[in-house]
Amino acid sequence: MPGPVKIQDLLATGRLELADQRSNRLESEILLCEALGVSRAWLYANSEQVIEPRQADRYLDLTRQRQAGQPIAYLTGHREFWSLRLKVNTDVLIPRPETELLVETALELVPPDASWRIADLGTGSGAIALAIASERPLCEIHATDSSQAALEVARENVQILAPDRVSLFHGSWLEPLDGKFDLIVSNPPYIAENDLHLLIGDCRFEPPGALVAGHDGLDAFGEITRQAVGYLEPGGVLAFEHGYDQGKRIRSLFENSGYTAVVTKRDIESRERVTSGIWK
Ligand code: GLN
Repeated sequence: MPGPVKIQDLLATGRLELADQRSNRLESEILLCEALGVSRAWLYANSEQVIEPRQADRYLDLTRQRQAGQPIAYLTGHREFWSLRLKVNTDVLIPRPETELLVETALELVPPDASWRIADLGTGSGAIALAIASERPLCEIHATDSSQAALEVARENVQILAPDRVSLFHGSWLEPLDGKFDLIVSNPPYIAENDLHLLIGDCRFEPPGALVAGHDGLDAFGEITRQAVGYLEPGGVLAFEHGYDQGKRIRSLFENSGYTAVVTKRDIESRERVTSGIWK
């Protein structure tokens, strides 16, 4: 921008830059808040305020990246999940609202005063582990990830949100953990490698290792289900988030591996989304 510009004019320019985005009004405001380091309430109260060209340029750069498809959460560096503000970057999957169903499933199982040992596998930003930790303060939560870069992000979130209650481990699923667990949860990668879904939206910018699992998307579920047998207490529960069309195959996997009371829950769009089973 050549000279100083008012907030309201800058927002109008941002909205035009973001013309292809469905929520371009909201997104133009979120990105301006990010560029200026202010809240949306402040923007509304100061719409006549003049902004320096350097800040305006930073804002327009963010809107251009967004228009090119970069997820909002990566541009702002954070995302709300279970009312927690989580740091995110391109090393981790952006937490999705549907994953709150896995958290709800866990909370229905764990009594409020229980001191269970719980594992969250492929924790990414730490979203699931931290959401459970925020609701079940007496539980001991162990979270793993095979990506060191993802664990760095999780570490920052854990330090802010639950420093004493979530421990982080580097490795594949349960391998870095010892002992038995009362509950194991995971939102592993579950998209098939040739799924066209990977070519649209936020997925294009997310780490493939957090999204893609073999030719049918089921590789991680098989691996975790096999490993979990040695890590679950008798009566312990394994619960997965999975794709809306994978419920039947996940139930068969659980049943063929010796789990009982296998149930699938549907998300708010009535799609099969979370399956759990009890280890006998
Ligand atoms: N639910 C995500 C999506 O469809 C996938 C998350 C995952 O693979 N665990 O974009």
